[in-house]
Amino acid sequence: MSLSDILARIETARHTAGRGPVTLVAVSKVQPDARVEAVLEQGQRVFGENRVQEAAGKWPGFRERFAGIELHLIGPLQTNKLRQALDLFDVIQSVDRPKLARLLAEEAQARGTCPDLFIQVNTGEEPQKAGVLPAEADAFIAQVRDDYGLPLKGLMVIPPVDEEPSLHFALLAKIAQRNGLEGLSMGMSSDFESAIALGATHVRVGSALFGDRVTG
Ligand SMILES: *Cc1c(COP(=O)(O)O)cnc(C)c1O
Repeated sequence: MSLSDILARIETARHTAGRGPVTLVAVSKVQPDARVEAVLEQGQRVFGENRVQEAAGKWPGFRERFAGIELHLIGPLQTNKLRQALDLFDVIQSVDRPKLARLLAEEAQARGTCPDLFIQVNTGEEPQKAGVLPAEADAFIAQVRDDYGLPLKGLMVIPPVDEEPSLHFALLAKIAQRNGLEGLSMGMSSDFESAIALGATHVRVGSALFGDRVTG
């Protein structure tokens, strides 16, 4: 589907639901450079990658050629990649544990700057999945935002593949609302319209925009 088709569907969904602006995060992981470049040529500037290493190989080059790129990390962040991630990304959506928050706070202090942050919530309580548990979310939000003073913008979720995503979107929205957070990163290729209906401010769309991923 073309970029303009996706943007039109986002606009329709947010008008129907009476929602504010929604940012399309174009998920470019594992996509051939030519496909990413075509979307850049069409004016898209916000992209998501889930691996630091892969992003490091591809985005510095694009940044030299296209102004105004905003890069989001949407995959788990290992602490040994933290500095590299801070050099590359404008937004980190996958803050998911106290140790990472502490190291982010230290680096932010040393650098005098920090990317915008989202906390990933494991609403499905899946053991293999990153994210804080819903019951731990309020305390972790307070730690990141209030204790460390980090620029926390919102929450992110990846619902379980075999469950109705709307229940997870609604839970994420509820946690955000009771904590006074505005950003909600939820919804992917197959469900971004229902995420927008439930308040998504950022949708992460990969395969619907770029075509199927070869691997990963
Ligand atoms: C790959 C990925 C996406 C995009 O998934 P599609 O179904 O291809 O749109 C969104 N969010 C995260 C965290 C991802 O890893």
